[in-house]
Amino acid sequence: MDRRTVGTELPDSMHVSKWVTALSNQYAGLLETSVIGSSMLGHNIYALHIGNRQRKVLYCGGVHGREWITSLLLLSFAEDLLSACRNGDRICEMDIGRLLKSGGLTVIPALNPDGIEISLHGAGIPGLSELLGGQLTEQIGSGSNYRRWKANARGVDINRNFDAGWDEMRSIALERGITGPSSEGWTGENPVSEPETRAVTALCEKETYRHLIAFHSAGEEIYWSYRHFTPPKAHIMANILAMSSGYSLSEPDRTASSAGLKDWFMEKYHSPAFTVEIGSGASPLPLECFPFLYNRLREMLVLGIAI
Ligand SMILES: [Zn+2]
Repeated sequence: MDRRTVGTELPDSMHVSKWVTALSNQYAGLLETSVIGSSMLGHNIYALHIGNRQRKVLYCGGVHGREWITSLLLLSFAEDLLSACRNGDRICEMDIGRLLKSGGLTVIPALNPDGIEISLHGAGIPGLSELLGGQLTEQIGSGSNYRRWKANARGVDINRNFDAGWDEMRSIALERGITGPSSEGWTGENPVSEPETRAVTALCEKETYRHLIAFHSAGEEIYWSYRHFTPPKAHIMANILAMSSGYSLSEPDRTASSAGLKDWFMEKYHSPAFTVEIGSGASPLPLECFPFLYNRLREMLVLGIAI
């Protein structure tokens, strides 16, 4: 991993910015970088585009704070694609130059930079207590609670904030006693109320993506359906991703059955969308498991562009 531009360290917003800048400098001409939004605490939300712009797919990581290992996955993969493309190398026997001529990839490495910052650094981040309220900040600041943080800096769970079955998800949250800002599970007061949700939906509205994969941790599972909006080819595609990764195909339980990015994309575009839960064990997964995870998933990441 040391050969990488900046190294696989904990992906807080400073590290992600440094990595994105290094890639932009090193691969000018192959990579287009843009800032698609800004978090509540003012961190950039980046999108990196590689390859064919007309026929592309979207990978989104770092949706939940404690699942920051997905940001490492996507930045590492973006760097490997760029390097293979420049050097004429293959990844898992696939000719990357040829692949990227026929298909393109946009990567959002960290959709929720504030949540990642909380999970990595705790509640002492400047400006956080004003957004969250003192009580909740105090709660996450005690012990190591902060490491398990999933939401954004306003206590809204981004993957419960999309405009697809949002009312139902809000009722489920209320039933579960989640009635306001929380570490996880709070839908927000309205759908698409958060800058992170708006950043990715605006990108999808501006561009055309064939399909989308949202990366979460953990569970070694792939979610591929959403009510009657699931296109028929989604099942075949999910099987290809499952065969490559060794992960199983799953149906979400009721508490995660709508208002997510995958759900919104399928409902709005009638195109396939997947949630891939990488790794096993409780999140945050330790940094040490990253090399194993990456080696296991590299082929699936390439196939996700090819299918
Ligand atoms: Zn998640």
